[in-house]
Amino acid sequence: MPVELHTSNRRIMVGLLGAMLLVLWGFVAYWSWSQRKSIIASNTVVLEQLTTAAEEQTLRLFRHAETSLMASNFWMADHPQTDPGDSPSFIALVDRLRQMSDGMLDIRMVTSGGGLHYIPRRGPKPLANVADRDYVRAQAQMQTRGFFIGNPVVSRVTGKWGIPVSIPVDKSGGDVSILFAAIELDRIAKTFEAERIKPLGSIAILRADGTFLFRVPIEDHVIGINIADTPSFKENYALSTKGVFISSSQFIDGKERMVSYQRLRDYPLIVIVTAGIDDLLTPWRRETATLVSIAGLVSLAIILLSLILIRAMKAEEKAQKDIEQARREAELILSTAGEGICGTDTGGRITFMNPAARIMLGWEHEDPIGQDLHANNHHTHSDGSPYAAEDCPVGRTLDDGETREALGETFWRTNGPSFPVDFIVTAIRENGKIKGAVLVFRDISERLASEQALTAQATELSRSNADLEQFAYVASHDLREPLRQVASFVSLLERRYAPTLDDDARDYIAYAREGAKRMDRLIIDLLEFSRIGHRSLPVEKVDLAGVIDEAVANLNTVIVESGAQVNRTPDLPVLPVIRDDMVRLFQNLIGNAVKYRHPERTPIVRISAKEGADGWIVSITDNGLGIDPQFSERIFGIFQRLHTRDKFEGTGIGLAIAKKIVERAGGKIWVEPAEGGGSIFQVQLPA
Ligand code: ADP
Repeated sequence: MPVELHTSNRRIMVGLLGAMLLVLWGFVAYWSWSQRKSIIASNTVVLEQLTTAAEEQTLRLFRHAETSLMASNFWMADHPQTDPGDSPSFIALVDRLRQMSDGMLDIRMVTSGGGLHYIPRRGPKPLANVADRDYVRAQAQMQTRGFFIGNPVVSRVTGKWGIPVSIPVDKSGGDVSILFAAIELDRIAKTFEAERIKPLGSIAILRADGTFLFRVPIEDHVIGINIADTPSFKENYALSTKGVFISSSQFIDGKERMVSYQRLRDYPLIVIVTAGIDDLLTPWRRETATLVSIAGLVSLAIILLSLILIRAMKAEEKAQKDIEQARREAELILSTAGEGICGTDTGGRITFMNPAARIMLGWEHEDPIGQDLHANNHHTHSDGSPYAAEDCPVGRTLDDGETREALGETFWRTNGPSFPVDFIVTAIRENGKIKGAVLVFRDISERLASEQALTAQATELSRSNADLEQFAYVASHDLREPLRQVASFVSLLERRYAPTLDDDARDYIAYAREGAKRMDRLIIDLLEFSRIGHRSLPVEKVDLAGVIDEAVANLNTVIVESGAQVNRTPDLPVLPVIRDDMVRLFQNLIGNAVKYRHPERTPIVRISAKEGADGWIVSITDNGLGIDPQFSERIFGIFQRLHTRDKFEGTGIGLAIAKKIVERAGGKIWVEPAEGGGSIFQVQLPA
């Protein structure tokens, strides 16, 4: 799968998981919101029902209070002559009325002077003076005269809170001008306390002017206060007869409450029922918290899962990338390889072929896949005889799984000429079973051609070398004969005609004899040079110490004459060489070391050997004339000399012979300047 697809897959997955989380949390939020909404809605209904009930109860209470006061008033109107304070029938009436209100309502009388009198018995003097009370004063004014609901007061008699209600007395047998009853808050409180939604909920009665008459739970500081200036009052109680709103009444405890209110039909009173939002929402909160924890766990699981998935996907992606990279590299190697690479199945049919193989085998324009390799490209031997498939190394490798190297085979281009190849065929195995073979081959036409050319060259070279050596040998051998003839006739001339000849003629004859002698020397040397390697002497283990001792012995006369010191170290190697050649080699080198000595120095020659990477190096060090490094190559050439004949005898072939011997033995020879003058001839010989 391409890498881009992987990345987009990962994105899709992340997107999906993100969407899942979004949906999950969206659901939680929606559920919680709708649940809250429905709780509020259902509680609104409950609260409204409670309000209606409270309104009914309050209405009944006040109606009862009014009715009771009215009934008392009627009694007094009916008995204009009787002082109600002393009348048993009035007392019975009031008792009855109290009973009917469950003792909540106690009717009292206020005289025109403000004196308060209890019923049943009117005492000699009033219990208290209530002239300053609003329910007394209200009856003195036309606007407020009638059934009046006063501010809640603490009874001067009982010390309890009560709502005073009063009516004016039309006619009275005594001096009673006002009847009033205190509705005991304690009593109402009991009823409402049972009904309110606990713990924060409350039930209250508000007078239409904004004064709190009553509230459960009883909060003393609330009773009697006026809230006409508060927003709650202005925006709700003052505007409509009933309603529900949310408020956090600062003058109570600042807690948020749902408030339901309703105006009483017949009295300037408003009943207020509240419920603490906290109370209402506690179960919702618990459920929401549970749901949020579950959703949190699920989210965590989703996130963990997606992280694991992403990691797995990334790892797979990386593996895929690596595979892709390896595949590309393999493809590159196969397509750029110079060798032909070809794969076959177990039936020998081509399954793969790299570009080099296609070109070599002539599959440039046709598809080789599925074709029989042997039948198409390996069918015939180079001599034109058919190549049986069962003899083919590829087929055999497919049978036995062995790797085979086939050299000098012949491959045929499809419908074309053949070419020589070397190939290696290896079985492809999968779980130990042979699945096919892979063939790596190389066109060896060029190599064969260059090998042939090289062989031809070598043959030609050795032939011409042999010719040359033969020529040199024959030439030097045959040249000596006429030379000897020249020399002997010159001698004859000298002997027979010497007395008749003048000095010049005798000198000329001497020069001619000398020339012939030198030429003979040269020819002998040349002959010797050409003979090296010609005689088939055996290569044997030769102790160089013995060789050098023999060479020194051969040079004894020269060494003694010159007073030279020739030393060798004892640790000289034993090497596989031709002994005679070695004696000649070292005789030449030691001979030169003595010959080219310094006129002012006793010649000292030291011979030592050390083992190196390429065999042994034997050093012949002298303290002679030394050799200018610029001639260090030249001196090894035939007839090359650095000194003239009149100073040093020689033909200039000694070092050429030395070089030939060393090179024939597979070694090297060179010269280096020695410290303090002189030369070091280094002879490297294979061990
Ligand atoms: P020849 O000794 O017959 O001249 P060689 O081939 O042996 O021929 O040497 C070639 C030349 O190399 C010599 O003529 C000489 O000038 C120089 N030569 C060889 N050996 C030494 C040596 N040990 N010290 C100085 N010069 C040398």
